[in-house]
Amino acid sequence: MIFERLKNSDPLPELTEVAELGMSTEDLAEDFRRHFSTTLGRDRFCRSTHYPYTALALVLRDRLMERWKNTRYAYQETDTRRVHYLSLEFLMGRALGNAMLNLGVTDEASAALERYGIELEEIAEAEHDAGLGNGGLGRLAACFLDSCATLQLPVIGYGIRYEYGMFRQEILNGYQAEEPDHWLRNGNPWELERPEFTQRVHFGGRTESYRDAHGINRMRWVDTQDVLAVPYDVPVPGYRNGTVNTLRLWSAAATDEFSLDEFNAGDYTGSVASKNDAEQITMVLYPNDASESGKELRLKQQYFLASASLRDTFRRWIRDHGAEFEQFAEKNCFQLNDTHPTIAIAELMRQLMDNHCLAWEEAWRITSSTMAYTNHTLLPEALEKWPVRVFQQLLPRHLEIIYEINARFLGQVARRWPGDTQRLTRMSIIEEGDDPQVRMAYLAIVGSYSVNGVAALHSQLLQEGLFHDFYEFWPDKFNNKTNGVTQRRWLAWCNPDQSQLISDTIGDEWVTRLEHLEKLKPYAEDAAFRKQWREVKQANKQRLADLVKKDCGVDFSTDAMFDVQVKRMHEYKRQLLNVLHVIHLYDRIKRGDTDNWTPRCVLIGGKAAPGYAMAKRIIKLVNNVAFMINNDPTVGDLLKLVFLPNYRVTAMEIIAPGTDLSEQISTAGKEASGTGNMKFMMNGAITIGTLDGANIEIREEVGDDHFFLFGMSAQEVVETRGYYDPGAIIRDDADLLRVMKLLECGHFNQFEPGLFDDIIQSIRNPLDPWLVAADFRSFVDTQRRVAEAYRDEERWTRMSILNAASSGKFSTDRTMREYNEGIWKLASVSP
Ligand SMILES: *Cc1c(COP(=O)(O)O)cnc(C)c1O
Repeated sequence: MIFERLKNSDPLPELTEVAELGMSTEDLAEDFRRHFSTTLGRDRFCRSTHYPYTALALVLRDRLMERWKNTRYAYQETDTRRVHYLSLEFLMGRALGNAMLNLGVTDEASAALERYGIELEEIAEAEHDAGLGNGGLGRLAACFLDSCATLQLPVIGYGIRYEYGMFRQEILNGYQAEEPDHWLRNGNPWELERPEFTQRVHFGGRTESYRDAHGINRMRWVDTQDVLAVPYDVPVPGYRNGTVNTLRLWSAAATDEFSLDEFNAGDYTGSVASKNDAEQITMVLYPNDASESGKELRLKQQYFLASASLRDTFRRWIRDHGAEFEQFAEKNCFQLNDTHPTIAIAELMRQLMDNHCLAWEEAWRITSSTMAYTNHTLLPEALEKWPVRVFQQLLPRHLEIIYEINARFLGQVARRWPGDTQRLTRMSIIEEGDDPQVRMAYLAIVGSYSVNGVAALHSQLLQEGLFHDFYEFWPDKFNNKTNGVTQRRWLAWCNPDQSQLISDTIGDEWVTRLEHLEKLKPYAEDAAFRKQWREVKQANKQRLADLVKKDCGVDFSTDAMFDVQVKRMHEYKRQLLNVLHVIHLYDRIKRGDTDNWTPRCVLIGGKAAPGYAMAKRIIKLVNNVAFMINNDPTVGDLLKLVFLPNYRVTAMEIIAPGTDLSEQISTAGKEASGTGNMKFMMNGAITIGTLDGANIEIREEVGDDHFFLFGMSAQEVVETRGYYDPGAIIRDDADLLRVMKLLECGHFNQFEPGLFDDIIQSIRNPLDPWLVAADFRSFVDTQRRVAEAYRDEERWTRMSILNAASSGKFSTDRTMREYNEGIWKLASVSP
């Protein structure tokens, strides 16, 4: 009966009716008991926190489910324009706290558990981070989703359901060791498999032309090897507004007829092996931040995401509009998170022309008014290029389409600048040479109607440098969208005490309108408020000190300044400059130069890409210097240094609230935006930073008096090229000379000779792109001013309050409004 009706696609009103579930402590407690004892079948002997965690997750999921359906219905019924946010990374972290916060049931859930003698904090620890990203780029995508759901924008995230997320970092004898992150091992209550929307993705094969029924010449892609893409949906709740958006993650599966030939030929193991090949595609996240691996499997991941997501969009489009594409571009936009999903441009052309019989011109009109590209870096090693021969093997039809896009594009350039062949060579999507390459960023620019950078300086440098030719050709395509973070996770959830104090003082509108924090500014002059602010910070520092004690075995005194640098390990981020400063402080202590000393606890954390030798060696240096300092009785409480292992979203939720000083010390012109800087600011840390990325805008917002600026500007960095003489800088700076001597005499590696030679050489290298020695003096002098400011408790607290109060701009709510006004043009839809 039901099957008959399903086949006839009747709406099944009785079955699909959405029930309202209660939100009171009683309702949650009763549902919790039911899920624990019935759904999960646990009893009085259960000792693991995993089952109570899962039961609570199911209680919340039930409540999300009805809102989720209502949101889907509302989007479909209004036939609204949608954005598809394509990203190879979504660094979501934990979902439980976010679901409780956004549903508005944190207190009720906590009280419900208490009835059974269970502590919320304890069972929340059972949730594994969804670490499907490397760092800032992946976390940005996660913050975007939260803000879009809160703004009720019809935005769907498309990504990959990696079996193994970002590796777990262990520190063994001071060295990074990578442990696989099998995050799905205990199941994932937040995902919903949707096998009914499985898509088929092609690879390899060859192309052939044929004449269709109307006698028109067409291309087709044949003899392909196919892989199934199975979607898993993750709910993305808005803040107390009834909206639940979707993050759709694709998982690879072998087709049913996998290796039938091999199987029939009796090669059972061979056929199972090729099943594994298919499933390899979504096995592991590439752990490179801001650099490209160039591996074929990575291109397969990119195409897998692009193709499955576009097919899914077409499925929905044809369901709602039939196979008519006239209005497709009016109703759809694809935002490309960096060049990683750029192959979607060629794939959309292919599907429109080869599958839906559109002519080139019409397909191009649709594609180039539907795609929008966000650039995330100026570093040359991060700019994706794929060898033409790899494309030829894996995606032969797409290569033909890219050649055609390029030929037509270069024709336009030639008409605009006749005879300028150098310009044609510079701007070609294909880089010629012994091993010709496809330049993905150029394909992204040519195929998109919008190209944006992620902070004012970054967008300006893109237009002046990397993409200058393209900017001259299409000035109106280029725009800036300064990044942000969601204050729901990065203040309301992770810092409940500061949030409560703020809301008690100025009300709680800041949770959805962060500009309201501005109302805190007058309270910086209120001594009683400052005292409360300090008490909150002290408690948060104690939480961080407890984490440091547990993970590093080192005692942090909450009286000391907590000086923190957490982010991916990369030379451009200059963790090395931070270490040189710490060695300098150690040297001062050893010399007895400790008058008016400010005790400091320095924390450094971050993962290095497994193949990035220099970054890994810097981790070892931090650990060796830490060992020396923390075990030297003459140093005592004046200075501590730790390397906190396994930096991740959940760790940052404790780190940011407990930080006094935020280190944002990249070489100017290298950090596109930074978002860690914003999380710290919101939580009342003061920044020491260069004029780089969003630091510039942070300083503009909070004012120069409340920001510790140091170092060369991006302009000065460029002008230094060819004149940089670190040898002379070291010779002329007594402090730096002593630091280098300590390093060079093997003070920190007495039983491991030569260990830090590469690091020493990099500092002394006139070609050091990161100019570590150049900014040492300015950094050390500025750190002195920081220490002085910290000793004046009232002054420091004022600065801390003003930083939090000035962080309003750095909400992704603002960022998403700007994307929407400038690029997406979505109407908000409430279910
Ligand atoms: C915010 C965040 C980042 C980005 O930090 P930056 O300092 O901007 O590089 C990276 N990793 C995690 C886990 C984060 O939460």
